[in-house]
Amino acid sequence: MNSQPITEPKTLQEAIVHFSDPDNCIAYMVARRWPDGVVKCPTCGRNDVAYIPARRVWQCKTRHKKCQFSVKVGTIMEDSPISLDKWLVAMWMIANCRNGVSSHEVKRALGVTQKSTWFMLHRIRWAMRDTDRPSKIGGPESAPVEVDESFVGGKLKNMHRSRANAIRASAPVDRLDGYETRWDSKTAVIGMLDRESRQVRAKVVPNVKRETLQNEILKNVKYGSKVYTDEAVAYDLLRRRYVHDTVNHSECYVKGQVHTNGLENFWSLMKRNLSGTYVAVEPFHLDRYLDEQLFRFNNRINVDDATRFGKIATQVLGRRLTYADLTGKAAVLARPF
Ligand SMILES: [Zn+2]
Repeated sequence: MNSQPITEPKTLQEAIVHFSDPDNCIAYMVARRWPDGVVKCPTCGRNDVAYIPARRVWQCKTRHKKCQFSVKVGTIMEDSPISLDKWLVAMWMIANCRNGVSSHEVKRALGVTQKSTWFMLHRIRWAMRDTDRPSKIGGPESAPVEVDESFVGGKLKNMHRSRANAIRASAPVDRLDGYETRWDSKTAVIGMLDRESRQVRAKVVPNVKRETLQNEILKNVKYGSKVYTDEAVAYDLLRRRYVHDTVNHSECYVKGQVHTNGLENFWSLMKRNLSGTYVAVEPFHLDRYLDEQLFRFNNRINVDDATRFGKIATQVLGRRLTYADLTGKAAVLARPF
């Protein structure tokens, strides 16, 4: 026998087969969570814990709450009755389906309820959020930064009345306050592309007023950077801090190096995903859909499927998102860029 067991699946098909064995799921997560191979109690940190194979949990020798723990404890999967193999296959799908996956596709593939799927996908998106990055992009010696805003969402008045009413009923009024364009209309998103690293950051903004947009640029782009935007009046005070150049989108889209086409590429991918796969997203949830889009976009070059999946499987650690968070008020999930 010289056939080696698959230790890291390379395709969705291999992932489904590999993770159908619960011990493979645990081994995979242990390797990401404890890279030195020493399992530690998430509550007290003891590293001489005993594994109980029959229950697939560890027992900490100190008496305290949660002294028996599974590999899910302390991750987005904690307290979830959904088995690890389903979580991992869902993560694979969302990491690697270029055009996104709908909750219906995941529901069918995993055989779990619509509500569970919705909750799982939101938690996975939470894990896809990039927190390991520099606070600011650009710099005087660096390649230019493109900045542009876009609008997302369909108008409810264009939808069938029953669907529009269902969406209105599902979005509590207090979560819609503060969005100037209201849920009835489109939601504004600001995006920035660092041409040096080819990385995009984007977030929902309450409006596209000059002050709002400029504050985001000041917070995210190093002073002295070359900043390219369109000619929107919103950006005309940037010259004090940046080497600012604009392109007039009503006349031309490219003025030599001065254009925002890199960002246009991100917007078009995002809109294709949101309109095709996700249909309607209220502003409250849009940041997490953006996190998903940004994750795939920023990990698209020179990153293979197994690596992209592994990144999510690692980022599930230390993040929690409860059902109450998701159905509660926006403040809970308000995030910096
Ligand atoms: Zn312990």
